[in-house]
Amino acid sequence: MTEERRAHDLPEGLPPTPDIDIDRLKATLLKLAEFGYDDSVNAVSRLGFGEADMAARRWLMELMEAEGFSARMDGAGNVYGRLGPKEKASVTMGSHLDSVPSSGIFDGALGVITALEILRTFKAAGIEPNWPLELVATSEEEGRFGGMLGAQAISGDVTPEFLMGAHDADGNRLADAMTAAGLPPLGALEARRPPSSMRAFIELHIEQGPVLDTVGKTIGVVESISGVWKWIIHLRGKADHAGTAPMDMRSDAFMGLADFAHAIPRIIDEHGTDKSRLTVGKVELKPGNPHTIPGEAIFTLVGRDSDAQVMRELQDACNRSLSAIARRHGLRFEYEQVSWLDPMDCSGRITDLFDTLAARRGLSYQRMPSGAGHDTQFLTRITDAGMIFVPSVGGVSHAPDELTHWEDIETGAQLLADAAWILAHEPG
Ligand SMILES: [Zn+2]
Repeated sequence: MTEERRAHDLPEGLPPTPDIDIDRLKATLLKLAEFGYDDSVNAVSRLGFGEADMAARRWLMELMEAEGFSARMDGAGNVYGRLGPKEKASVTMGSHLDSVPSSGIFDGALGVITALEILRTFKAAGIEPNWPLELVATSEEEGRFGGMLGAQAISGDVTPEFLMGAHDADGNRLADAMTAAGLPPLGALEARRPPSSMRAFIELHIEQGPVLDTVGKTIGVVESISGVWKWIIHLRGKADHAGTAPMDMRSDAFMGLADFAHAIPRIIDEHGTDKSRLTVGKVELKPGNPHTIPGEAIFTLVGRDSDAQVMRELQDACNRSLSAIARRHGLRFEYEQVSWLDPMDCSGRITDLFDTLAARRGLSYQRMPSGAGHDTQFLTRITDAGMIFVPSVGGVSHAPDELTHWEDIETGAQLLADAAWILAHEPG
């Protein structure tokens, strides 16, 4: 990053950002919510590469073409729309169009429709920026097939082995789902964007957590996106009769798991940070009979932090704790690491820009980490990328009750527009 591109030196003489139209944004977002909407549960299901997801993608492309933005879909199913010449590097905005099953209407969709609203606003203002503005609606962000496929394809982080081998929890293959959607699976390898084709990436997303709603702030400027690992842990003891085996002569695998669960707060105190999370989310006891001492406990441990070194120290501490607990209870302990995703820092240039612009508008905002994964984390690999959050009421997300107030959406969308306005007018 060069000094003259430091964001807080706002360009002199640039006219103010045109105002976005919140009513138009709202109407378009509600129209998008009709794709995959189930009114019996008031929720949206647009699973990656499913029918509703692909129908929403085609609708978005037709809408953008009709409004004069050149639209296209790449080999990974990412939809692009553009204002400005296609040969120049873009200032790109967006998020994902797919959802988890029975989702709310804002997760991902908000970032896509805000990007469209910004394209519309800038086009209507009739000003030709120095750099083209681009919308991207990424595919398969929610990890139905175990990745963040659209964003990973853009950053060049997918392999043929993954494309041909991945499947969802019901055993449906990614390759079959993509083929049914009209996308030859290996075409995703061609979705990679060279770093020279993008000047910046900015994303607006709902927080999906309770922080902003609790502290009463409107904007979160995301500094880092947590890394995450997943272990599957086995504690093996001895399944015995629950009546005949004395309490001091048992190898009870559940007691080992319970001791470990109690050790988690101490492990985080001693080895973690305020951004650390350790979660035992899925547990199976075998043989699973009320009158039998559990001979085996199989459970997941998911760990997160925004620093890879801290993640490794947490892993070491969990390993030592589980070994000691296993010895104490006469258990055997094994684990398998199923996944590891590095933490990512957002671009300092972009976070500085959001800070500066939020302060200029007198908004209540704060810097914060993201505990959840987002498209931005892969875009940081090829360009200056950053994101902002708007509050989720009660922190609810990935559920039908997901809600963000329209006045907060207007504030967040206008702040994203401010950033796009500056970035698109940089000299060059
Ligand atoms: Zn999302």
